[in-house]
Amino acid sequence: MAEQVKVQGVFASMIALKCPQCHEGDLFKKPGLYTIGGMGDMYDRCPKCNLKYEQEPGFWWGSMYLNYGYSVAIMLPAFILFKVILGMSFYGSLACAGIILTLMIPVVFRFGRSSWLYWFGKYKKLV
Ligand SMILES: [Zn+2]
Repeated sequence: MAEQVKVQGVFASMIALKCPQCHEGDLFKKPGLYTIGGMGDMYDRCPKCNLKYEQEPGFWWGSMYLNYGYSVAIMLPAFILFKVILGMSFYGSLACAGIILTLMIPVVFRFGRSSWLYWFGKYKKLV
């Protein structure tokens, strides 16, 4: 019986922090989002298909633009929640939204890099 490997879709693989080319290899060395130390340690190449992740020097600078967008997408609704719905003061709402964003830093960082890599990568079935 042949081994059947289930390949995830593009979005599911991006969320799962998998390689954009094979959707199987991990991007980061430590799997948990909230690991102490080594949060940003990535493999240089995909462990499964050998795709080089950093495609050129300074490649990850671009992911910071996505991180900024994700940060705004987290901070703005959180601020509105605290200010408008819960009726907190301006600075109190800003502080609470900032705390939420601070707690989300590992998620934003890893998802920013993953989505940046998926922007430039495409799926190629391994043979
Ligand atoms: Zn791969």
